[in-house]
Amino acid sequence: MIAMIAQLLINATGVVAAFLFMYGLKRMSSPVTAPSGIFVAGVGMLAAVLASFLYAFGVDAETRSYVAVNTGLAAVALLIGGGIAFWSGRKAKMTSMPQMVALYNGMGGGAAGAIAAVELFGNRAHGFSALIVTLVGALIGAVSLSGSLIAWAKLEGILKKPTRIPGQQFLNGAVLLGTLALGGYIVFVSKGGETPLADAPRWIALFFGGALILGILMTLPIGGADMPVVISVYNACTGLAVGLEGFVLGNPALMIAGMVVGAAGTLLTVLMAKAMNRSVAAVLFSRFGPAAGGKKAKGAPPGALKPVEASDAGIFMRYASSVIIVPGYGLAVAQAEGKLYEFVKLLQAAGVGVKFAIHPVAGRMPGQMDVLLAEAGVPYDLIFQLDDINDEFKDTDVALVIGANDVVNPAARTDKTSPIFGMPILNADQAKKVYVVKRGKGKGYADIVNGLFYEDNCNMVYGDAQAVLVQMIEAVRGLGTHAAA
Ligand code: NAP
Repeated sequence: MIAMIAQLLINATGVVAAFLFMYGLKRMSSPVTAPSGIFVAGVGMLAAVLASFLYAFGVDAETRSYVAVNTGLAAVALLIGGGIAFWSGRKAKMTSMPQMVALYNGMGGGAAGAIAAVELFGNRAHGFSALIVTLVGALIGAVSLSGSLIAWAKLEGILKKPTRIPGQQFLNGAVLLGTLALGGYIVFVSKGGETPLADAPRWIALFFGGALILGILMTLPIGGADMPVVISVYNACTGLAVGLEGFVLGNPALMIAGMVVGAAGTLLTVLMAKAMNRSVAAVLFSRFGPAAGGKKAKGAPPGALKPVEASDAGIFMRYASSVIIVPGYGLAVAQAEGKLYEFVKLLQAAGVGVKFAIHPVAGRMPGQMDVLLAEAGVPYDLIFQLDDINDEFKDTDVALVIGANDVVNPAARTDKTSPIFGMPILNADQAKKVYVVKRGKGKGYADIVNGLFYEDNCNMVYGDAQAVLVQMIEAVRGLGTHAAA
């Protein structure tokens, strides 16, 4: 009776959790409702995790003490893991969010792989379909684990350059085929999971080894600028692996959560690839990046860098009628979003029309600039995505490029040898006047020269974004805030 009630509660919680995941995801589609969406989905996940402890009530008397110990261990693991995640999540800087996402993604893949390992090593995946699903989940989960860890190391700056070895694609293909063959051997010799393999652990370990190596080999050659797409590919893979293992365990919450993450990750991957004008295959098979076809632009482009004082740039904008701000990674580094909005309010008070233009891969994480501006309190109706604002630059007095570089590099339009050729960029160069705020001559993430900085209509405002904005604010305040005549 108790077992029946427990099972009923588990199933009911699964349905509720599934609803909360989907409702939460729906709310995440707008920056206004996203924080509550994250909360709602989190509550769903918490309910699903807590409900899984009810499985302990469904066991017979013989295994009760064994299950009690395991349940206790699971609770301790949950507390330790949850504690570390809570502590590290609070401590993580806005600029290190992508690394954190890559790491957590890897953990998800690893967790799915670990479930599969328990099933396989414990010879618990009985039946042909259960064994196949477990192996597929194991393969995807392990690839996602090692691939995400390499992505993390790249974003963290531990692995700086794409590592390519001769015959890379042949090697990747060989490792994939070898791993699939091992999986086939396990299925064949165990007669579809009916007969335990005498030396199964060896073959299963080799299978996992192959999958982990594949994840490393697939990610090592991929250039840094493609990392956002790579991370979302692994995100989709992790979701799929979790969903498959949920199917093996017969856990509806895992199945649904996994599939929701898998579907969302796949959509994000397609959107990101579109934003960078690359096919997902081109990203994964490394037909992008300086060493993969393109050459780095050498030397300075024609024209000269023309530095101006921050105060002069601030005053110029105060007397402009329209300003479009292009925020980039450097704004997050300088944590200058609050000061930027303070400056914007001064401009607005003087009658200047101000808008923000967001590139889909500005910063180091999809949506990073939206979150940054939202945290500073910038109203959502001032924030425009690339497609919605790109035509407005040509009719705008000033484009203020602050801490951004690659996302306004005109080489993406014109230079076929550039590693970013084909990526849609914000048309900041088409504004009547461009101010670029950056600390010095540092390049962007793609590590290439930006011809915009040398254009006749462009002036450089050197300095940390925060310090520059303080000077601009002081200069405009010094004038008073009367509307331009
Ligand atoms: P970016 O091309 O990386 O350029 C950032 C610029 O900010 C640098 O040129 C740097 O120049 C300047 N900067 C750094 N710290 C600063 C500070 N404290 N104050 C003022 N300026 C500062 O950035 P982006 O234009 O945002 O482009 C994003 C790039 O990252 C793209 O190539 C994209 O593909 C890649 N990426 C994106 C994601 C994503 O999902 N969004 C993830 C991974 C990679 P100085 O050193 O001279 O100051």
